Amino acid sequence: MSFYEYKPGKEYIARLDHFADLLEAITELAQNTKIKAGRFTAIGALKNAKIGYYNQDMKKYEDIVFNQHCELAACIGNVSLKDGGVFVHAHVVLSDDAGNSKSGHLISGRVFAAEVHLTELTGPDLERKYDGLTGLSLWDIK
Ligand code: ZN
Repeated sequence: MSFYEYKPGKEYIARLDHFADLLEAITELAQNTKIKAGRFTAIGALKNAKIGYYNQDMKKYEDIVFNQHCELAACIGNVSLKDGGVFVHAHVVLSDDAGNSKSGHLISGRVFAAEVHLTELTGPDLERKYDGLTGLSLWDIK
C-alpha cells in the first residue's frame, strides 16, 4: 500500500442541468473549478443510465443498461488526473419504481435532476497510470 496526504480545500455545491450527462457534468465541474484531486457525492434522479461491472477475468467492463427513469440513490466518486486531464471516477446506486436497485461503475447517465457536493483535496498531483495486473488505470502513488 502506498498513500499521499491531502487536506480538504474548497467545497462546491452544484445543481446539474436537466438532460446533462452525469459523468460529463461532474467532469466539467471539476475542470471549471480547477480541481485536480477531489471527492464528491451526488443524489437526484436520472432518465436512464449505463453502468459497468468489471469482469476481472476478461479485464473489461460489462455494460448494465438501466433503460428507465431511476433514483440516483447514491453516487460517490473521486477526481484525479489521467493523461494530463481531469478524470472522474464514479460509482452509483440506482433504484427503480419498486425500490429495487442496481449499482456499479458509472459509464453514463442522463440527468433528470442532480445535486453534487464536490470537495477539493489539496496535496500532491494524483495521476492515474495503466496497471497491467488489473487492466485498470489506477492511482500512481509513489
Ligand atoms: Zn469504477
